[in-house]
Amino acid sequence: MGVGRTSILDTLAELSLQGIDHPDLPRHLDRLDPLQRFRKEFHIPSVAAINRHSASVGLPSKTGHPDGSSSSSDDEAIYLCGNSLGLQPIRTKALLDQELQIWAQCGVHGHFNHQFDRPWVSIDDNVIEESARIVGAEPDEVAIMNSLTVNVHLLMVPFYRPTTERFKIIMEGKAFPSDYYAIESQVKFHGLDPKTTIVEIDPRDGEYALRTEDILATIRREGSSTALVLISGIQYYTGQFFDIEAIAQAAREQGCLIGVDLAHAVGNVPLELHRWQVDFACWCSYKYLNSGPGGIGGAFVHSKHAGDSSLSRFAGWWGTNPATKFQMSHEFEPIAGAAGYRLSNPSVLATIALLGSLQVFAETDMASLRHKSVRLTAYLELLVEHLQDKYPGRLRIITPLDESQRGCQLSLLFLEEGRMMPVFERLLEHGVVCDERKPDVIRVAPAPLYNSFADVYQFFRCLDEALAATL
Ligand SMILES: *Cc1c(COP(=O)(O)O)cnc(C)c1O
Repeated sequence: MGVGRTSILDTLAELSLQGIDHPDLPRHLDRLDPLQRFRKEFHIPSVAAINRHSASVGLPSKTGHPDGSSSSSDDEAIYLCGNSLGLQPIRTKALLDQELQIWAQCGVHGHFNHQFDRPWVSIDDNVIEESARIVGAEPDEVAIMNSLTVNVHLLMVPFYRPTTERFKIIMEGKAFPSDYYAIESQVKFHGLDPKTTIVEIDPRDGEYALRTEDILATIRREGSSTALVLISGIQYYTGQFFDIEAIAQAAREQGCLIGVDLAHAVGNVPLELHRWQVDFACWCSYKYLNSGPGGIGGAFVHSKHAGDSSLSRFAGWWGTNPATKFQMSHEFEPIAGAAGYRLSNPSVLATIALLGSLQVFAETDMASLRHKSVRLTAYLELLVEHLQDKYPGRLRIITPLDESQRGCQLSLLFLEEGRMMPVFERLLEHGVVCDERKPDVIRVAPAPLYNSFADVYQFFRCLDEALAATL
């Protein structure tokens, strides 16, 4: 049994409570949580704002919550959607206001002369170190730039250079559409046929997750004709956390390059991109990194490629040697490392919004977040199992039950046709914010930085009511 499950069941036994659904359990778990203080660093959306009609529905009242809520007020939504858009850190507004103030008062001088010591010309210097820490990279391996799909394209320029012998790309069959569009259009750009170039790995019949052994077998089978393995770190739909280290090693053994899309992994699970020898990676920062809608993206290029001048790239002035950048010559001298792939001066407001969140991350670390996350999600899993027993044949978890193969998200599959949306709408009426993937999946993601065990318990009560109401 996983460590998360074991520790929740141990706590239950120590307290001599009857049943995983006992209302005293979340209060005790929250009290034991050393990260509980981070919740107050975030704006928690209100039920009233997200759902004007919630008051008119007979929902399990929050006042029924055992301790009158130490960590959530009555109007706070149960926000379990950090996999889609992370919450706003309280401090972000003040940081943004500082930039607006300098822009208002100093105009262009803010580029070099900045009252708060963040000159705009090197604004991204403020977010590199913590980003690198979160993805397990050296600072020179990380650039904060553009947005995710743009970065997938830009890094496929050096890292997908098909030859007649090696031209294939191995990817997950159910990859996020934007990733598929990027890869397919790159393949076409090189004059190749996606049908014979893209190798998709699918789950076995009746299964939802990919088996690591099947991924590795595909890499061994197709490796000699494969240029690039491009896979997500955590699968957006199932929540499966792939064994990136093993996949990278298998790719390397076959002479293939490996790229990873970390959209759902960054800020969710500990990563060690440098040690795993991933060639490149990209991420967005608005999911678990809480940088706000449309936030700035990230990119990783392994240091082993830093000095490789044979790598082709699409260049821009932000990638050239800063000492000569403003001489306005036509000599492009790429900065060694990831920064050499930057094109434009970054959005200061987007970069500073990321800084607001990274300052919170800097007060903890991914190992501590993971420790809590494994317990939080195990608690959610145990409560969902309780409902599976209560309502047989209605739902199942398609996320791997092995804790090491998932992050914080659980994906719930509703087995009866047409029943997911009514449940989802009922949840929303109760002030539960999670996310649906039509036709039949609800994704639930308790983020360890701001979600509490009380949130998970309230979700369980609302789901129980929603299942009963939609019989
Ligand atoms: C969220 C997400 C995206 C979004 O792409 P943008 O370029 O940021 O709009 C792309 N790919 C995956 C796997 C995602 O989860």
